Amino acid sequence: MSIEDSYIRIKKEVEDACISDDRDPDDVTLLAVSKTVGIEGACEAFKAGARDFGENRPDQLVEKHSALPEARWHFIGNIQSRRIKDIVACSYMIHSLTEVRHAKKIDEAAKGLGRRVRVLIEVNVSGEESKSGISPDAIERFLDSCIELENIELCGLMTMAPLGDLEAAHDCFERLSRYLEVARTYLGRIAPDRKDSFCELSMGMTDDWPIAIACGSTIVRIGRAIFA
Ligand SMILES: *Cc1c(COP(=O)(O)O)cnc(C)c1O
Repeated sequence: MSIEDSYIRIKKEVEDACISDDRDPDDVTLLAVSKTVGIEGACEAFKAGARDFGENRPDQLVEKHSALPEARWHFIGNIQSRRIKDIVACSYMIHSLTEVRHAKKIDEAAKGLGRRVRVLIEVNVSGEESKSGISPDAIERFLDSCIELENIELCGLMTMAPLGDLEAAHDCFERLSRYLEVARTYLGRIAPDRKDSFCELSMGMTDDWPIAIACGSTIVRIGRAIFA
């Protein structure tokens, strides 16, 4: 199946899943994770209607952003300090913030560009050592440390579920959804003006996105089902 056909099919499946879960399809963004293909592949998905793309390597992000600037590019990979300027310059949203020192650099870089950048905090819900993300216990402290950074728009939480275990994925997504509610309540106390925009749940990939949507995901990050 072509990339265009795959995108159209998955887009319809995501919309159908929203409807059967009593959710508004407009509340769920389908993020096309184009990390395994070149710019031609991303352009094919764009032609089929994709507007949000995910990349996990700064070089690829920079290259594809400059080739297709009319799309929204999301950074979903490990953040390295020395690449933060590039990441900020090309990202519509950064999904993978795990360190306060990176938040400070992102804030500075955004200030330098004269704009705010949307950021999600990555949470390691399952506690697996192989996974990145902050511990759920550390979310409030992390918010405390970032709340003064005016060029960062804190938009919510992101996670990766354990692979190959749908029951564990379900548990992981339910927990992230509860952590978002707890964090919103906390923001309501410490920074009420920041509460409403802290509403995104970036969770769900090719193998587990229907479960994520049932648990309240607002951004599903799908690679293989579109590009493989
Ligand atoms: C690669 C990747 C995805 C997409 O995974 P698929 O299983 O191919 O859908 C989603 N999120 C992150 C952070 C990734 O690195």
